[in-house]
Amino acid sequence: MEVHLGIDDTDSREGMCTTYVAAEVIERVEGSFKPPELVRLNPNIPWKTRGNGALAIRGEVSDYGEFKNQVLEVVRSHRMKGSDTGVYFSKKDPRKNPEIRRHSRKTVRSVVDPEEAVRLARKEGDVVSFGSGRGVVGALAAAGHKFNDMTLELLAYRKKRFWGTARNIDVQSVWNAAELYPLVWDTVDRKHGKIVLTPNSPCPVLYGVRGEKRWAVRKAHQKIRGEEPEKNMVFRTNQGTDEHIIKRDLNSIEPMKSVETTGYVDEIPRTIEGGHVLFTIKSGDTMVDCAAYEPTKKFRNTIRKLSHGDRVTVIGGVTDSPMTINIEKINVLEVARKTKEVNPSCPECGRNMESAGRNQGYRCRKCKTTSPSKKTIEIPRELTEGWYEVPPIARRHLAKPLIRIEMNYDTKQE
Ligand SMILES: [Zn+2]
Repeated sequence: MEVHLGIDDTDSREGMCTTYVAAEVIERVEGSFKPPELVRLNPNIPWKTRGNGALAIRGEVSDYGEFKNQVLEVVRSHRMKGSDTGVYFSKKDPRKNPEIRRHSRKTVRSVVDPEEAVRLARKEGDVVSFGSGRGVVGALAAAGHKFNDMTLELLAYRKKRFWGTARNIDVQSVWNAAELYPLVWDTVDRKHGKIVLTPNSPCPVLYGVRGEKRWAVRKAHQKIRGEEPEKNMVFRTNQGTDEHIIKRDLNSIEPMKSVETTGYVDEIPRTIEGGHVLFTIKSGDTMVDCAAYEPTKKFRNTIRKLSHGDRVTVIGGVTDSPMTINIEKINVLEVARKTKEVNPSCPECGRNMESAGRNQGYRCRKCKTTSPSKKTIEIPRELTEGWYEVPPIARRHLAKPLIRIEMNYDTKQE
């Protein structure tokens, strides 16, 4: 019989990773399962743990009751104390239920009421929760999630005795693996000379290879040397898809959501304490701050080139007090002309003329040439129109790398 499973929130800052629990379910539970799905949820929720990802597993089993027991055994043996684990089981495909699909979409883009999630989950399935049970929100969202755009991530897991210790990965081998770009991406950050495929947490993940094709993420994985992984698994994910982004006019953006919005640069970029770069965009009467934070490193140099009057579309998460858009990508639509008034130059000798006195115009002392007024010259702009993105070292899980757009990877159908 057909089964659909959602799991969320088994980890804590001290360890574990719900993807590992999913990999264990597939390995240990009887049944035949499709590749697991990793669904990243709204990254702007303050109470999330780390990456805010939930897992779905679908497949065929012979005994539903036994399936549930075996899954819960795996979940219980791995979940961290204090995590708000939620597990959702269903014999019907929750992706076919429009209400659950809406819940799923809302969980990626907005804020969902946990009680509402439990009510909805119970209508068409079974819910088991631990702690506050908030994990049911993500468990149902993952199980009911339909991909419009999809990427892959191969996750390699560490042997248990290494959990919590420093990861041993041959850096050069990661650069070799990165040659599969653009079919794999965000393994390294070329501009900053850093490898980015390892987490910084004490979780079981050794590294993750993100990309478009199963053979490509596998091939990249095979090139990586160092600590021998315990196992690996390829997940289908909404990472790198911009599924969290909502198009909004500047006057209707809200905190805890991620938006795409357009305006004119009003206050020019300024660097504040901590190295963060802020500027203000304006549309109609609305003005909102936009930020390129310190971890975005060299991206801030691009942002610093913005000038008053530039027309831009920004994509990013919205935070509160004061309302600020945390830029993930920016499209410079129009670079404004920038001019300044200078003393005219002499047509004879080419030197700058001097003022001939108040309201007397300008003159060249040597050649006796005159000119009635200052002249306007254009200041060359260093910025060109087009898209710019934060580097891989600072990219959010859900943020779509520009290369996926350039290669049309984001328009392929599932
Ligand atoms: Zn002259």
